[in-house]
Amino acid sequence: MQQQQRMCISSLTISHSCSASTTDSSLFTTTIPKTDDMIENNLQEDLFSEDILVAKNSMPEDDPNGNTLHDAREIRWGPQHAGAKILAGQYTKEKRIQEIISIILSIIFMIYNFICIYRYFDVRNWYLIIPSALLGILTADLASGIVHWCADTWGTVDMPFIGRNFLRPFREHHIDPTSITRHDFIETNGDNFAVTVPYLLYMAYKFTYWNDTDIRQIYNFEVYMFLLAIFVSMTNQFHKWSHTYFGLPSYIVFLQRYHIILPRKHHRLHHVVPHDTYFCITTGWLNWPLEMIHFWSWLESIVEKYTGAKPRSDDFAWAQKTEKVHCY
Ligand SMILES: [Zn+2]
Ligand SMILES: [Zn+2]
Repeated sequence: MQQQQRMCISSLTISHSCSASTTDSSLFTTTIPKTDDMIENNLQEDLFSEDILVAKNSMPEDDPNGNTLHDAREIRWGPQHAGAKILAGQYTKEKRIQEIISIILSIIFMIYNFICIYRYFDVRNWYLIIPSALLGILTADLASGIVHWCADTWGTVDMPFIGRNFLRPFREHHIDPTSITRHDFIETNGDNFAVTVPYLLYMAYKFTYWNDTDIRQIYNFEVYMFLLAIFVSMTNQFHKWSHTYFGLPSYIVFLQRYHIILPRKHHRLHHVVPHDTYFCITTGWLNWPLEMIHFWSWLESIVEKYTGAKPRSDDFAWAQKTEKVHCY
């Protein structure tokens, strides 16, 4: 299926074969005529076919009316989707309390550790500190891809504890991608901040109780871990901004345009049914190289071979929880 997906992206014919999860094949069969200009310019051809693929097989996020008043007999995406309503209703008060505590703790440790890193900073080691920081950002991007791929591809919302608390937002996000833009800072970022708390606490312990000599020996590693923690924490915020088409501050748009954080158009490729590509959502820097080596399809074939589990079967099931609506 991944091979078919890539073929869809690079060719001008989009067919039902690249969207095995969909319920209505007629919605996904389109042939786009070639023009002379496009034959001369392969890059332009790829960009154009990506635009068409995104337009046909994902929710129109840059059109606010299209998000809620989709012109279709059957609602395929958005807050009115039957599955999206069920999933949104499963966000509990206990979960929110856990998110608030995680964010407060994480921010306290971030500030403390930043002060310590600044205190021990030695500009003569810039050639080690800068690569350590960049490696931390790259690791965060890879981690975002692996976690996102795991949650999208395997498991079900019915699984004890992780189903409702961890997998539910991923299912909701595919059938109502703009729901993330209606979530506040706490709901958007609570889980990611929670992940960073244990290590940030350990880092604070080291900076507090270790002697100067020992701290200097681990300094570059702690810079790496600090940047990793910051970018892991901010991953879903970057992701939220990649779905926000209205009212973003100009500096965020600048960061997106120069691909310092996840760009909007780049992330739209993940939201093309069946959501089997471009899983990295922190900066998105690793998406292209991982696609080149067929990383995700390779991993899926291994898991499928040894477990027999079908990739994205739960995701497909939620996508099909549509209800007929009548247009008057
Ligand atoms: Zn996804
Ligand atoms: Zn998304």
